[in-house]
Amino acid sequence: MLQKLYPNMYVPSILDINPDELQKNGIRFLLLDLDNTIIPRDADQFAPEIIHWLQSLLDRGFKLCVVSNNNNMRVNNLLEPLQIPCVVRAVKPLRQAFLRAMELLDADTASTAVVGDQIFTDILGGNRLGLFTILVVPMQGKEFWATKLINRRLEKLVLKRILRRVSHKDKKYYVK
Ligand SMILES: [Mg+2]
Repeated sequence: MLQKLYPNMYVPSILDINPDELQKNGIRFLLLDLDNTIIPRDADQFAPEIIHWLQSLLDRGFKLCVVSNNNNMRVNNLLEPLQIPCVVRAVKPLRQAFLRAMELLDADTASTAVVGDQIFTDILGGNRLGLFTILVVPMQGKEFWATKLINRRLEKLVLKRILRRVSHKDKKYYVK
């Protein structure tokens, strides 16, 4: 059970995810969490470096889809200019939204990675489907009260275990 909570990779920020390395791992499709992964939860615009990162992946032929437990208005407004599709009200870690996102992208299990800041939604959800999972350190946005109260406390316990299992290379942790 605990295995399902461990990501394949753990990085300080989404910007530390190197497209070359994704390609080396056979990844062509990315299912991205929104809040506190690519934008602080209380922000209404992407930082320029995030737009640059997203655009450079798109330019290299990666297919992206945002999978968010958030509602559609905010997500649509943010993603429309970049023409990145999204699945909202996702109820992660349930599988359904990830499957819908993979269907939208015409993605297969072996070529798909999930990227997110929460172990109990993003990472667990991705691992349940056998996808490559990348945990990022949460951005500094204000968090949903239940996230703070429940998930983050439990995450602290799991993170300790994850950090015991990691091999450290560059700024990334590869979890065994
Ligand atoms: Mg998040």
